[in-house]
Formats: sequence, structure tokens, C-alpha cells
Amino acid sequence: MKKSLIAGNWKMYKTPSQSVEFVKLLLENLKEYEDREILICPPFTSLFPVSQIIKNTSVLLGAQNVYFEEEGAFTGEISPVMLKDIGVEFVICGHSERRNIFGETDEMINKKIKKVAEIGIKPILCIGEKLEEREAGKTFEVINYQLENDLENFEKFENLIIAYEPVWAIGTGKTATPQQAEEVHVYIREFLSKKYNKEVAENLRILYGGSVKPENIDALMKEKNIDGVLVGGASLKVEAFKRIIDYIT
Ligand code: PEP
Repeated sequence: MKKSLIAGNWKMYKTPSQSVEFVKLLLENLKEYEDREILICPPFTSLFPVSQIIKNTSVLLGAQNVYFEEEGAFTGEISPVMLKDIGVEFVICGHSERRNIFGETDEMINKKIKKVAEIGIKPILCIGEKLEEREAGKTFEVINYQLENDLENFEKFENLIIAYEPVWAIGTGKTATPQQAEEVHVYIREFLSKKYNKEVAENLRILYGGSVKPENIDALMKEKNIDGVLVGGASLKVEAFKRIIDYIT
């Protein structure tokens, strides 16, 4: 069975002590789920202390970024080997904030997902169109371009997760409707099926991200091709994140 994935991206929020406090609260009364995985992606400085708390629990650990070399003279960067050593199992790659604020290119993102998968960490590749691109009817063109370039010569599909995150819905309170999200998820699956094969397309988890909250999670998760969510703002509050984890379909 393909488990759904409920992932929290904390962005640049929470000190190490605030992160530990959050995780302890989250773990209180957290149910055991057979059909879903729970992932949190704290800032780098919180990864190690959080890894100590979630050891032997069902909560998984992810990073928000990574460099595409294992070591070297790359001041300020963090390598996938370092992440793996402290129990990081997932890494968000190509988040729209990395692309648009820090100028990450598709070429860099492609290098990152290949290196991360090679080291044995699961990359969560984020793709999505900007508002002006959607309004100009270019959504599928943008998605197609990002998939072609970000996945060039990528092979480890059993480790890959794709997150469709329309840029106009991130941190804006504007959510794509379940139908808008489903339409793009279907497009991504068809792309994978045509370019690779049906098995790759069917087994790969495609998450939706963009103002997911307790009020819209159930409707989103009812869609056939939405295999989970990547949650920013609403993953910072234990109560809201728990309600999202407990989605009902
Ligand atoms: C995100 O950070 O990936 C995100 C989707 O943020 P938000 O849920 O706040 O829109």
C-alpha cells in the first residue's frame, strides 16, 4: 500500500529549544497510523536535537535544503552525508522560496536530487507555477519544463517524492481548489508514465502544498492523485498540524 505523507516545512521558524518543545507536544497522544507517514522539516540548527526526541517514534525527519557535494570548500553549505549521519531521511529540494529568493536554478536542483538520492535520502522535489504563469495559461508548460530539467538523468524513482506547490498559493492563504490541484497531479503522473513507465508514475507520491490548513485538508486528501501534503504555516502550531495529520477521507 502506498502510504500518504504529511510533511511540515517549518521554514526559518523555531529555535532548537522551541523545536524540541513542539515535538514533545506533538508526540503526546499521537496515534499509530498504518496508512500515513508524518514528516517534519525543521531548520538546520534544530535537526540534531529533534532527531534525539523522535528516535524510535513514527515521526520522520527532513531537511529543507542541501548542497550537492559530499564535502569540500563550500562555506556555509550542508552536505547530504552530514544530514544522513544525524538521521535525516528526506530533503526538500527546489522549494519556490529557494528558487525565487536564492536564485536556485533547475540545473542546481537536478544536481541536488541526484546526489541526495545517491546518498540514500529521499528528495522532495518542489515544482509549481507563478500566478502570472497560471493566468497566462502556462501552468502545464511550466510543470513540463521543471520536470524535464529537474529530473534529467535521474534514476532512483523509488526514492523520489514530488510536491506540486503553486507559487501563488504558498503562504498567501489562497489554496488551489482540490480540482485545480488534482488536474496538475494527473498531468504529472501522465508525464511520468509517458517519459518513464506506468510503474514509476503509479508508485510515486505526489504531494500538494500551498496554504494547506485544517479547514481544507479533508477535501484535498479526497482527491485520487493527491498522496499527501507539504504544509508550511499550519505545521507550526501543534493543534493545527495534528488536525491535518488526522485528515478524514
Ligand atoms: C510551503 O512552505 O511549502 C508551503 C506550502 O507553505 P504554506 O503552507 O504556508 O503555504
